[in-house]
Amino acid sequence: MDSASIADRLRALGGVARAGQIGASRSMLARAADRGAIERVRKGVYALGAHPDVRDAAAHGGELACAAALRVLGVWVLEDRPALHVWLGPDGRAHPHPSCACIVHRDAGASAFGIVPIVQALVHLAACCGGESFFAAFESAWRLGLLDRADRDEVRRRLPARFRWLVDLARPDADSGLESLLRLRLRLLGVSLECQVLVRGVGVVDFLVDGRLIIEVDGRLNHDGASLRHKDLVRDAEAAAQGYETLRFDYALVVHDWQRVQRAISATLSRMRIASLR
Ligand SMILES: [Zn+2]
Ligand SMILES: [Zn+2]
Repeated sequence: MDSASIADRLRALGGVARAGQIGASRSMLARAADRGAIERVRKGVYALGAHPDVRDAAAHGGELACAAALRVLGVWVLEDRPALHVWLGPDGRAHPHPSCACIVHRDAGASAFGIVPIVQALVHLAACCGGESFFAAFESAWRLGLLDRADRDEVRRRLPARFRWLVDLARPDADSGLESLLRLRLRLLGVSLECQVLVRGVGVVDFLVDGRLIIEVDGRLNHDGASLRHKDLVRDAEAAAQGYETLRFDYALVVHDWQRVQRAISATLSRMRIASLR
């Protein structure tokens, strides 16, 4: 088998495969790797054109899983320090590699190489990173059209019982992961809110509490553009003119400084509620 045929075969196998699957002799594979036609991931495992995280998961011995799989699929994932999560199956062997800091998953099934199905990745995420992270990723995946009805039911069924209510609470229209987090956290505080509400003259706001408090959550990474800032100011001015209060939070506040966000919302709501009694 020549190098071009080996490369074709590797591509057809999804970009990462064991020597045995490729069906070429050890010397042919070595020659193809020496020529740069394919990449040797580790002894007996070769890659071509695979996503770098998929290749690193294969180097570790399994499939890209959990938060790392969701990230590659474009799903919003709450993570302080993104790590490589790898599914090895119940008894697959781990292969430490340079700069290895992999988080290993060992649920049942036959793992190979590639990316685990999204349902499995979401179930991993709940157990590995907790309910909040799961909830935001689940809503993000749903919004992206990556979860149909059967998938959502399967996620619910496979989750530990303590997380199932999160599936029931989820919606397909959250604009960002931050919005999902805020809705979940406020719900736990007993504050119920309307999402994506059209306020005449202002536009669609992220949240409306008590019909008068607008909460906007800015999930955009680059929000310091002057024109965007001006737009927000116009919205806030119009909202104020109509008797609304507006609170704005960004990623850093919601994720790293939640107590401050919570105090701001609680104090504003108390003040508004007391004022409405007068
Ligand atoms: Zn994980
Ligand atoms: Zn590793």
